[in-house]
Amino acid sequence: MKNLSRPVPPGGTIGIVGGGQLGRMLAMAAARLGLQTCIYNDAPDAPAFQVTPHHVVAPFEDADALAAFAARCDAVTFEFENLPAHAIARLADSVWVAPGADALAITQDRLSEKSFVEKLGLAVAPFRDVSSSEQARAAFADLGGPAILKTRRFGYDGKGQAKVTSAEECAAAFEKFKGAACILEGFVDFAFEASVVAARGADGSFAAYDPPENLHEHHILRSSTVPGRLSPAQGDAAKAIARTIADALNYAGVLAVELFVGADGSLTVNEIAPRVHNSGHWTIEACQCSQFEQHIRAVAGWPLGSPVRHADVVMENIIGAEADAWENLAKGGALHLYGKKQARPGRKMGHVTRLKE
Ligand code: AMP
Repeated sequence: MKNLSRPVPPGGTIGIVGGGQLGRMLAMAAARLGLQTCIYNDAPDAPAFQVTPHHVVAPFEDADALAAFAARCDAVTFEFENLPAHAIARLADSVWVAPGADALAITQDRLSEKSFVEKLGLAVAPFRDVSSSEQARAAFADLGGPAILKTRRFGYDGKGQAKVTSAEECAAAFEKFKGAACILEGFVDFAFEASVVAARGADGSFAAYDPPENLHEHHILRSSTVPGRLSPAQGDAAKAIARTIADALNYAGVLAVELFVGADGSLTVNEIAPRVHNSGHWTIEACQCSQFEQHIRAVAGWPLGSPVRHADVVMENIIGAEADAWENLAKGGALHLYGKKQARPGRKMGHVTRLKE
């Protein structure tokens, strides 16, 4: 295997599976460090293709294309989690892959993810496995309502989720998901949402960013504010949660942990994203080392950078047709547009970061 024992030197190539805006911002950060990127995507019109010297278009399951991709990269990572974990595991036979296929497999299935977090002694919403209509009714009877039925896999931005208030509704929602394996989660009555974005090096080094408060609209992230309403002690507790999870996964790279913050100050883990995260975009302007550079550093085996924040900051997403107002948006902050041609409703088109003077 190539490159397990040494860092990828400048001029080396980092492979990124997935060509969305996260891959795009990773490629830009890699270029700043003198590293090249090769981006692998299953469709040709990927936002990340506009900023990478090398790319591959092939299905994510294409064993030959994956092997050829691995051969031209010195280290490989991925920018979204709805990938076949076995394809990532296969890549790891011939090239250093970070984070590893195990971390991907655990976090891409809500049941294994929640079980894993619970075993670490961290708080999660009560949950039940739901694989049949009968189990859906029984799980609701057990947990009580309201509750949220979620498909175990392939959910994002609220897709594959239904709030249910009776056993019948729960069974009907399960059927609407066409029998896909689900979990039922007790509804957490949170005061607000937060997240912690952190990096772990393969050597066990760790660096966490200050946790933002996150506002969602229609299940899509609207804004991240730092500092938010988390107290410094809660911020430290959030960072400790990220470290516990990253260590237990033997993680290399950036990960995000989404949290519910209770009125009593409690922190409940909602989910883990094994990648750079939308709630960390503000780190580009507000921190010495952005989450994107940090991830590239960890994947390339470089020392982690400083996560220290030098300004208070708000990041707002630009969603769907909001991008039409780009001239106005350009006036008051750092504007990022992802180069997407079509502004479909709910589609993340860009973001604006405003540092507080
Ligand atoms: P998720 O896809 O799991 O991140 O959920 C998307 C959003 O739905 C979260 O950011 C919350 O706003 C809401 N949500 C998810 N699970 C729960 C829960 N158990 N209790 C209350 N709200 C939830």
